[in-house]
Amino acid sequence: MVQIRLKPGRERSVLRRHPWIFSGAIARVEGHPAAGETVEVLDAGGQWLARAAYSPHSQIRGRVWTWRRDEVVDEAFFADRLELALASRDRLAADETITAYREVHAESDRLPGLIVDRYGEYRVVQFLTAGMERWRDVVVRMLAARGDAIGIYERSDVGVREQEGLALRRGHLWGQEPPEWLEITEYGLRFHVDVRTGHKTGFYLDQRENRRLLRESLSGGRVLNCFAYTGGFTIAALAAGASEVVSIDSSGPALTLARENVRLNGLDEGRCAWREADVFRELRALRDAAEQFDVVILDPPRFAARASQAASAARGYKDINLLALRLLRPGGMLFTFSCSGGVTPELFQKIVAGAALDARVHAQIVAWLGQPGDHPVSLAFPEGRYLKGLVCRVTGPQ
Ligand code: SAH
Repeated sequence: MVQIRLKPGRERSVLRRHPWIFSGAIARVEGHPAAGETVEVLDAGGQWLARAAYSPHSQIRGRVWTWRRDEVVDEAFFADRLELALASRDRLAADETITAYREVHAESDRLPGLIVDRYGEYRVVQFLTAGMERWRDVVVRMLAARGDAIGIYERSDVGVREQEGLALRRGHLWGQEPPEWLEITEYGLRFHVDVRTGHKTGFYLDQRENRRLLRESLSGGRVLNCFAYTGGFTIAALAAGASEVVSIDSSGPALTLARENVRLNGLDEGRCAWREADVFRELRALRDAAEQFDVVILDPPRFAARASQAASAARGYKDINLLALRLLRPGGMLFTFSCSGGVTPELFQKIVAGAALDARVHAQIVAWLGQPGDHPVSLAFPEGRYLKGLVCRVTGPQ
């Protein structure tokens, strides 16, 4: 039997149902498991602990499929897990005002390495680990057989695959090929999404509830949307009656699609200003021009994937938050986010507090934000919580 034997004491995290087995926890590998093969996990004394997928090239050498000895990792296993994940999105599936959401969220849905996002009649999938790669055809066949989508597209063109010794892959998998621009609806707002080459699987589905919150909390005013991408927060602000929305992004194609999305919703293009620029520089230019806003949104890309990068990420977050706080009128609101897994919510709050101190403003937190329920966090896998946000009101000078 192919099995991995852990070092003494290293069974503890497995017993707490954490799904990752690091290479340093392994005493020896018995047999010659292929990449992605299912292996038995034993503690130092030979007690059976779990069944995991073997990743020979990754520091995360094993990812647990099951802690139940009687549960075989076969096609029926994947059918069950997929069914559980999809059933838990029933409410979203039934909501006609939302046509794009996450159906499978990897470890937190107990399917390490698998992402399934729904965009209208299409599914976009990512296979991120050697273990999941091995079951790729089975998963695609099962998703296709559900009969609730017309096409499946793969976006396994993610850097993490390299750590697994897997090549990046992107392309049409089954059924109809998605059009260049796919239309989705988010709480009644329409968006064109490029699932082939857009970021992630095409859209930042994880910000859905936060875009809605912005829409609900806005009453007119001048809005600055930093890291605007295809205009998610821009459209939400316009729909809420913002008098002007200035959107900054370094990507020209993203802003082109953002403009298209304004038109798609019949919103007033005259209330929009677009700046294809670096946010760090543009915020300084706005400061130097003494511009003022009622709302500033900061939704930067990931600055730190790991805790070891937290210090340099902290400098980046502090810089943009300080500049943003200075651009706000008294009573103005900052919507600030971090999607860096290496930055904890506590650290993020500290960074924003430091930014307010140095910006010489008094600000108060009025809401703590995170990721929506279709991006759940398994209690056994706190690493699944990556998106953090704060809504801060600037009351005036210190
Ligand atoms: N808020 C968006 C998602 C933002 S993703 C939404 O709701 O859809 C982050 C965006 O930041 C990307 O579009 C990327 O092009 C942009 N970006 C990354 N670094 C940047 C920089 N230094 N200056 C400006 N934009 C940047």
